[in-house]
Amino acid sequence: MPERCPVCLYHGEELARYSFGHGHPFGPDRLDAFWREVQRQGLDQGTCLCDPVMADREELERFHTRAYVQRVKTQSLSGHGYLDQGDTPAFPGVYEAAATVVGTTLDAVGRVMSGECRRAFVPIAGLHHARRGLAAGFCVFNDCGVAIETLLAEHGLERVGYVDIDAHHGDGVYFGFEDNPAVIFADLHEDGRFLYPGTGHASEAGTGPAFGTKLNVPMPPLAGDGLFRKRWAEVEAFLRGHAPQILLFQCGADSLAGDPITDMQYSVAAHRLAAERLCRLADEFCEGRIVAFGGGGYNRRNLATAWSAVVKAFLQAS
Ligand SMILES: [Zn+2]
Repeated sequence: MPERCPVCLYHGEELARYSFGHGHPFGPDRLDAFWREVQRQGLDQGTCLCDPVMADREELERFHTRAYVQRVKTQSLSGHGYLDQGDTPAFPGVYEAAATVVGTTLDAVGRVMSGECRRAFVPIAGLHHARRGLAAGFCVFNDCGVAIETLLAEHGLERVGYVDIDAHHGDGVYFGFEDNPAVIFADLHEDGRFLYPGTGHASEAGTGPAFGTKLNVPMPPLAGDGLFRKRWAEVEAFLRGHAPQILLFQCGADSLAGDPITDMQYSVAAHRLAAERLCRLADEFCEGRIVAFGGGGYNRRNLATAWSAVVKAFLQAS
């Protein structure tokens, strides 16, 4: 058994290749912005740095349909057109770039499950809008969805916790597992009446045998830290009630004040609080296991500070 790392942190140019070009909100400079802040705070010193890994087709097809994976592969060769209705353009190499996000997430999950790492953070990941057979909202392959399928089928877990504080509802994860009671899903997001993708109403609590295993908390536009703290208590109570065996944390930074495409007004304190509390819950139920994904965040300063706060909280709780 290798020596246990407190926190694995993924870094490498291959992750920055998952982007939609310079000047796009989801541009390649997001990774650099984060990495500069990591170095400024010295967080790279305490973590184990890990390289990105590319997923293979079998792994992608644990969540996605074969036809969709093939479609991405074909459009990746031409580099033309959109992979959805107009938000997510194809570009040459998009297949490899998106498969690398998934492979890196799987590597992080694998290291945490084997005990090599206690916590892990993958900055360019958490592509929570992609559906099993569709791209959506800058998300080509849903690394969270593939990770959940892998944890259930390959690692034999019975309850996987997924917590999402990105400004947008994690619809790809929600609808991917809406009827699966093994997925304990909690998502705080800007009310779908005001923001893409329009889902995540409080009444969406899971279907059939999964009813009650999903918690959607729509927040009003301009919601700040005070309201976040108040509603966060519901997330903790919900997770305690279901005792998941691992926590996946999509910590999108587009819920901070100053994001160019959302209306939320959290400060970095929201991300710090969520990360600290989730580490405690992970220690309570999950043998410490938690993997965080950067998710959205289009104000570079915000994503750098919010994601660094999560890494720092992981280190301090290790
Ligand atoms: Zn988002």
